[in-house]
Amino acid sequence: MRVFTAALATETNTFSPIAVDIRAFEASLHAGPGEHPATPTLCTAPITVGREVCAREGWTLIEGSASWADPAGLVARQTYEDMRDAILGQLQAAIPVDAVVLGLHGAMVAQGYDDCEGDLLSRVRAIVCPDVLVCAELDPHSHLTAKRAAAADFFVYFKEFPHTDFVDRARDLWDIAVRTLKGEIKPVMSIFDCRMIDVFPTSKQPMRGFVDKLLTLEKSEPDLLSLSVVHGFMAGDVPEMGTKLLAVTNNAPAKGAALAETLGRELFAMRGTFMVAQVDEQTAVTAALAAPKGPVVIADVWDNPGGGTAGDATVLLAELIRQNATDAAVGTIWDPIAVQICFAAGEGAEIQLRFGAKSAPHTGQPIDKRVTVRKLVRDAQMRFGESFAPFGDAAWIHFDGIDVILNSTRAQSFDPSLYSALGIDPTSRKILLIKSTNHFYDSFSKIASEIIYCSAGKPYPNRPAETDYRKAPKTIWPMVENPWG
Ligand SMILES: [Zn+2]
Repeated sequence: MRVFTAALATETNTFSPIAVDIRAFEASLHAGPGEHPATPTLCTAPITVGREVCAREGWTLIEGSASWADPAGLVARQTYEDMRDAILGQLQAAIPVDAVVLGLHGAMVAQGYDDCEGDLLSRVRAIVCPDVLVCAELDPHSHLTAKRAAAADFFVYFKEFPHTDFVDRARDLWDIAVRTLKGEIKPVMSIFDCRMIDVFPTSKQPMRGFVDKLLTLEKSEPDLLSLSVVHGFMAGDVPEMGTKLLAVTNNAPAKGAALAETLGRELFAMRGTFMVAQVDEQTAVTAALAAPKGPVVIADVWDNPGGGTAGDATVLLAELIRQNATDAAVGTIWDPIAVQICFAAGEGAEIQLRFGAKSAPHTGQPIDKRVTVRKLVRDAQMRFGESFAPFGDAAWIHFDGIDVILNSTRAQSFDPSLYSALGIDPTSRKILLIKSTNHFYDSFSKIASEIIYCSAGKPYPNRPAETDYRKAPKTIWPMVENPWG
């Protein structure tokens, strides 16, 4: 067997001010054929798992390029087309192949392309024969369009949010692919449109129970190969935005459709109940200061670079300053200009610095402080599950009892190791202010005395009923109360 694999992924917040070109991929991951490192990034596990599987089966794995950019705004047309055409050229050179196994995200939008994955997959399908297996692993924060469903045999999405299972789901993807190539099964997709958009953290109820139920069904239901909730991505203004339920069966489409509908309607019935309650910045800081012991983690949930925002909002930091908080460490605020100034000044320097809140309205005001540059680190990185997430050249600055880590590559606060990377012991601080919606939970909950979810400013379009969509459907919940009427 000859299997082609490649990855092309980013998550596009079409409302984000951060335009994306090739440099954004180079800053995160841009590996040529065969150059992908041994550890996977979020959307490239099909390549690393594929190496193991093909070695075990004695099959030939032909690796194409693998590119991932951290979530941000619209991708430049030329950048997308160049990367797409590189992969298509590699596939063309690799044929004949028996299967194409891709790592995608599913919410990539480029200038002129509302559905990059649909475009890529249909071009892949046009190159290979109709009987060649085409499949992909994707992030559930994506748009499951009719075009991409028509071009592929099956998809497997991460089930967990935080996405701790991206390697496990790549194994599911390959298990199904191997059994298909051996002629044991024929995967078929059934999709149910839930006519809603919401945010679905799986670390708490009711979504925890729902995902556990999917995992149980996958083991117990005959002819069921895989179940996925495609959460959808409310910051992507595209025509097919919304939550979908996907069932992959062994050639049992009627059964798959019934199951997808039953589960999809169950999900709809729980709409609006998935997110943790959030407080405003004043309540968050007051509660953190009142806590008997630290570290209290305050999550700035909507200024999450993982959702494509800049990650430079200062609303919460300004509130910490206003309430005279000390013993607080902020990780991170994105400001490459301020980082550059800190590097020029050097460790130990005391300088007047303006930082933060330069990218977009509703993210607060820049902070002006006389700061001490405590530590400078080139190419800093933090852990994220089994992999590492780079956050660029970084500076630890200090003023009035508050430590701030300024970074130059946008990254959400995945893990407390972002502090240790700069020499700060996160367990020694009373308050840790971080930027992440949900991915932080697994690692930070291990050291936190308490976690406070805070909605500060308006850096992200997190209220779909109020968002000024031009392309997304206006006939789904919560834009309308009853989308079934
Ligand atoms: Zn995601």
